[in-house]
Amino acid sequence: VIASHLVVPDDITVSWDDIAGLDGVIEELRESVVLPIRHRHLLQNSQLWEAPKGVLLHGPPGCGKTLIAKATAKEGGMRFINLDVAILTDKWYGESQKLASAVFTLASKLQPCIVFIDEIESFLRSRNVQDHEATAMMKTQFMMLWDGLSTKAGSTVIVMGATNRPQDLDKAIMRRMPAQFHVGLPTEEQRLKIFRLVLSTETFSDDVDLNRIAKLTHGFSGSDIRELCRNASVFRIRNYMRNGSGNQTPSPNGTEPLPPISMDNLLS
Ligand code: ATP
Repeated sequence: VIASHLVVPDDITVSWDDIAGLDGVIEELRESVVLPIRHRHLLQNSQLWEAPKGVLLHGPPGCGKTLIAKATAKEGGMRFINLDVAILTDKWYGESQKLASAVFTLASKLQPCIVFIDEIESFLRSRNVQDHEATAMMKTQFMMLWDGLSTKAGSTVIVMGATNRPQDLDKAIMRRMPAQFHVGLPTEEQRLKIFRLVLSTETFSDDVDLNRIAKLTHGFSGSDIRELCRNASVFRIRNYMRNGSGNQTPSPNGTEPLPPISMDNLLS
């Protein structure tokens, strides 16, 4: 089960270049995680410059937390295990503990490795009296396994969690993630950068004013911006089929270029 969630660095398709407007977070992760991991052979005897064993990315949905986690693994030459919390919490009593132990054993064998846990609060939320006994044991065991690896000299397994609700996370988990980054909704300037990146492979008509679109999209996440651009492209194709060469005989080799994306397409 876990192996199906494992990706080796060469197969990770996301790099820093695929992330726009988050230069500050990227720079900090480069310095605190990627460099110490990449140069770990030089730093074997130094405990002064170690990558943190826990990293938390928090902020609203669709703003790039998963992108950042994958790109960090790629840039650090690390394996990436995407731990689906459902497989840990849905299992029968006892099974989830075996799985947690299997995850850490695998991560340790594969290090350097990032164990990514999206919606980490759903599984490691503040402990309360209503917790099912199995859930409580699961959390305790998870932390023990994590500590076991963290204290091992030279370990390069990093647990990277993402959450929209950091306030719900167990305090003990918070302490295990000393590096914490907020990945918030993009500002106007960041939205402009995301538009430029997402549309970098497209051609536009002269009327397209990305500064204006960035201003008009207050409250949009990176994911919303991507969706808006995808829709603009679909509208463009639909119009083309309806009004343009859709009525004419298609070009024999199908290489006729699509019309550029217009401001109307983006505002639709
Ligand atoms: P969730 O909390 O819903 O899992 P998330 O913060 O992990 O969200 P991602 O899955 O990283 O968000 O982003 C969703 C998609 O939105 C990405 O695959 C990408 O296409 C686009 N996206 C989001 N933020 C950015 C960004 N800063 N630069 C480029 N693309 C972005």
